[in-house]
Amino acid sequence: MRITKGIAVSPGVSIAPAFIFADDSVEIPQYHIDPAEVASELTRFHEASMLARKEIEALRDHAKNEAGEEQAAIFDAHLMMLDDPELHDQIEISLNDNLFNVESAILAFETEMVDKLSSSPDPLIQERVSDVHDVVRRILRHLLKKERISLSDIQTEIILVAKDLLPSDMVGMSRSMVRGIVTESGGRTSHAAILARAFEIPAVLGIGPNFVDQVKQGQLIYVDGEKGIVAVDPDSVFVQREKAARAARVQREIENRELREVPAHTKDGTHIMLVANIEMPDEVANVNEYGAEGIGLFRSEFLFLGGHVPGEEEQYKAYTKVVEAMNGKPVTIRTLDIGGDKVLPELGAIGEKNPLLGWRAIRFCLEKTELFKTQLRAILRASVHGKVKIMFPMISTIDELIRAQGLLAEAKWECKAHGHAIDTNIETGIMIEVPSAAVCADVLARSCDFFSIGTNDLSQYTLAVDRGNQKVAYLNEPYSLAVLRLIRMTIGYGEHAHIAVSLCGEMAADPASAVLLVGMGLRTLSMSAGAIPAIKRVLLSISLEEAQSIAQQALSLRTSTQVSALLNSRISL
Ligand code: PEP
Ligand code: MG
Repeated sequence: MRITKGIAVSPGVSIAPAFIFADDSVEIPQYHIDPAEVASELTRFHEASMLARKEIEALRDHAKNEAGEEQAAIFDAHLMMLDDPELHDQIEISLNDNLFNVESAILAFETEMVDKLSSSPDPLIQERVSDVHDVVRRILRHLLKKERISLSDIQTEIILVAKDLLPSDMVGMSRSMVRGIVTESGGRTSHAAILARAFEIPAVLGIGPNFVDQVKQGQLIYVDGEKGIVAVDPDSVFVQREKAARAARVQREIENRELREVPAHTKDGTHIMLVANIEMPDEVANVNEYGAEGIGLFRSEFLFLGGHVPGEEEQYKAYTKVVEAMNGKPVTIRTLDIGGDKVLPELGAIGEKNPLLGWRAIRFCLEKTELFKTQLRAILRASVHGKVKIMFPMISTIDELIRAQGLLAEAKWECKAHGHAIDTNIETGIMIEVPSAAVCADVLARSCDFFSIGTNDLSQYTLAVDRGNQKVAYLNEPYSLAVLRLIRMTIGYGEHAHIAVSLCGEMAADPASAVLLVGMGLRTLSMSAGAIPAIKRVLLSISLEEAQSIAQQALSLRTSTQVSALLNSRISL
């Protein structure tokens, strides 16, 4: 047996055989060839193209049946590209002229096409970059005989072991079969962690380098997502622990169900609105199960991470499903927050040197205006089915907010022009997750209806710590004075402007932090649904006055460790 410690990110304990998930990145060999080998390289290319064609045709038929003509058209475009004589001519010329293997010729073709398309002033032509990437990768995979592993194909219960997991890997995975997750990188607020908690899968991330190489496919793994412990080939003590944890979970579920009907308030009766964060529409069942009073953050980008870009109708249906299931309770839909670790090659958001500081979220949408307005129209149309709010992510300047509001106004007109009913007074808010937004929140407050503080990114950008990098995770302290001050500042500016302020970062899901945040003035907290009972319990045990006194003292301390000690001594968990 071997025990390793990582970062505990999603509670629960389980044991199952390891499933090693190697990522899909293709190592591309590049080497010189002999003039006599040109013909055989060309044959390899034609064979791989044929296989890619069959695959795309199957995908097109599937898309047509499942999602309609609009989605199927994407694959028609891929087939056209594959059949383009220019592609075939260029590969042949490149092989003859440069005498490098066919993989190199394909890469050279890709670079040339991407440069050409992305320098076009026409956004529709620019968007074809993603089609080029898709088609090229498909041909390369066949050339290199690399099978694409999909986590949706898992048929037995497993512990997913990987170096890293992208949100897009997790979106389509077979959730009931994944009993636990262990990854070498990642931290508490990385999106893999957030999804693991949303899907209620025990997870330990940031376990450190080389873990994957030391585990064999099928080897038994124990994961304790509360203590951050992973045991390979667990002995009987761990097997007993897992059994006990399972029994405790059943008991907790009963208690949580009882708590569901109790309103969330402090001991003295101050109501604290506890709402939920969701990523996928089907999480809405859990939201109601845990008694959330609404949805404070619907991370809509996850609809886009499942392998294709949804059109207006598809998005409208997805949002409506959530809004209707919430039965009049508020649903805050955050517009597309793509970029960073949420890579979407289909939309061309790849290849940046510093993706977290780059073309992400609102920056991306303000350039891809048609895509953005398509989403806005879908949200607006869904708004008549309940109480919907729109939230813009990663606003860092007032100009961005004004431009986003302008596009929203256009989207409203377009809905009206098409005869669609919408909520014309829909509330619009912004995430406060970039330090510049917190510092200038007084200015931003004049152009929106609410703020939601995103502490995951606010900490990342304030402390200059990549939230997914386990090497620097120690710097991402839970109670950094700088972040606490920015939260306080945002609350103050919001109060002054009489607009609502809530918080939807992972901090809200931690019981001690929730008390601190309520003490600092917040009355709405948004978190993964499963965290609601624990937050409700701690709030019921403490008065507002006590929470305020804790917050006042916390803000006078210098280090995160001192704040942790204060919270431990003043709050009984
Ligand atoms: C945040 O940054 O705190 C947040 C809630 O957004 P996300 O985790 O999706 O970046
Ligand atoms: Mg964020």
